[in-house]
Amino acid sequence: MFEKSLKAYEEAQNVIPGGVDSPVRAFKSVGGTPPFIEKGEGSYLYDVDGNRYLDFVQSWGPLIFGHCDKDIENAVLATVKKGLSFGAPTELETYLAHEIVEMYDHIDKVRFVSSGTEAVMSAIRLARGVTGRDDIVKFEGCYHGHSDSLLVQAGSGLATFGSPSSPGVPADLTKHTLLCEYNNIENLKQCFKDSNNIACIIIEPIAGNMGLVPASDAFLQACRELCDQHGALLIFDEVMSGFRASLTGAHGLVSQKADIITFGKVIGAGMPVGAFAASKKIMSHLSPEGTVYQAGTLSGNPVAMAAGLVSLKKLKANPEIYQALEAKAKKLVNGLKDAATKNNIALQIGTRGSMFGFFFCEKEPTNFKEVGLCNFEQFAKFHHEMLKRGFYFACSQYEVGFMCTTITDEQLDECIKAANEVMEIL
Ligand code: PLP
Repeated sequence: MFEKSLKAYEEAQNVIPGGVDSPVRAFKSVGGTPPFIEKGEGSYLYDVDGNRYLDFVQSWGPLIFGHCDKDIENAVLATVKKGLSFGAPTELETYLAHEIVEMYDHIDKVRFVSSGTEAVMSAIRLARGVTGRDDIVKFEGCYHGHSDSLLVQAGSGLATFGSPSSPGVPADLTKHTLLCEYNNIENLKQCFKDSNNIACIIIEPIAGNMGLVPASDAFLQACRELCDQHGALLIFDEVMSGFRASLTGAHGLVSQKADIITFGKVIGAGMPVGAFAASKKIMSHLSPEGTVYQAGTLSGNPVAMAAGLVSLKKLKANPEIYQALEAKAKKLVNGLKDAATKNNIALQIGTRGSMFGFFFCEKEPTNFKEVGLCNFEQFAKFHHEMLKRGFYFACSQYEVGFMCTTITDEQLDECIKAANEVMEIL
C-alpha cells in the first residue's frame, strides 16, 4: 500500500522541484515512489500509509541512537523551552566544542556551522587563506557537499582541471579543483608536479559517497607526505565518518592525521549541524581572530548543540557501542553475502564501524570507476523488493548503510531472511 505516499509525492511535485528537498530522496536511481515518512521510532520508520520499515539509512547517518532517543529528545525539549536561537554565544557551543576537540591530540579548536556543505566549504577557504594558494585536490567519487568548487565532474581520472558537474557552476570556479583518482598514488603525485599552487587535499578517508570504499593506508600516507613536502594542508572530510566509523571517526582506524577535520551528521544527532576543526595555529586565521571570513546566523544553534552534546556524551560514556554496531553491520552484510552466494550472485561487502556497504559485482571496487561497473539493475531490484518487505536501504549503490543502537539481532535475522527470498528472484 503506497497510495498516500503516491498522492503526497504528486502534491509535493507541484510545489517543490522533483517533490524533494535533496535529490537522492526522489529514488531516481532505483525508480518507484519514495515513501513519505510520518514518524520514526527506534529502529523503524513509518510512512503515511502506515507501512513500517527497518531503517538502515538513519537520516543518512546522524541518528546513531535510532529515532526518538529519549535522552536526546529530552535535551532538545528542555532547550527549546529557553528559546530557539539568539544569534549570540551560548555555553552549549563551548561544551560541544570540548567534546570534539578532546578526542584528538592534534586538534584544538572547532567552529560550528549548519551543514556538512558549509563545513567543507569553510574548511577549504581556511586552507586557502592559511597557505595563500588557490588549487585544491579532490578525488573522484568523494562528495563534499554542493558548494561550487566541489561540484566537479567525476570523469577523467587524470589530474585534470575539474569541469563543473552542474549547470550554474561557472568553469572559472572549478578550474582550481584538481581531480584525481581515489587510491591512485601515481595520479596524485602527478597532480603535485603539475601545480605548485595546491592549498589542500580534501578526502573522505573512508569514502561513503560511492558506496563504502576505504582509502588504502599507503594512499593516505601518500596524501600526508605530499602535503608535508609541498606545504599543503590535508583535510579529512569526516562529515559522514566522524563519530560513526569509530569514536574518533576515520582517524581512529587509519594511521594518518589530517590538519583540518570536517564534521556533520552525528555531531548534530539529527539537527542541522556541521563543524570544522584544526590546531590553534590554523584556526587562528579565522575571523574574528584572523582574516579568513566565515559566519552564520544560526551557527551553533542552541537546540542543535544540545542534541549533539547529549549524543557525543552518550557515545563517549559507552565506547563499546562501536564494536557492537560493527558486529551488527557484519552480521547483516555477511547474511546478504551468504544469500547472494547461494543464488550465484556476486556481491562484495564491507563495514567500517557502524557504516556498511555492498556492491553487486565480482571484484571489490577501490575507486569510482570500478563502482560504476557494478550491476545497478540488480541493486535497484534488490532495493525495491526489500522495501516491499519492510526494509529501508539507501536508494543507490553509491550510498552506504548505517547501523543504529536500537537495531536488534532478531531484526537483522528478519532482514536476512527477506534478503534470501529476494536474492532468489533477482
Ligand atoms: N561531506 C560528506 C562526506 C558527506 O557525506 C556529506 C553529505 O552527505 C557532506 C559533506 C555534505 O553534508 P550536508 O548534506 O550536511 O551539507
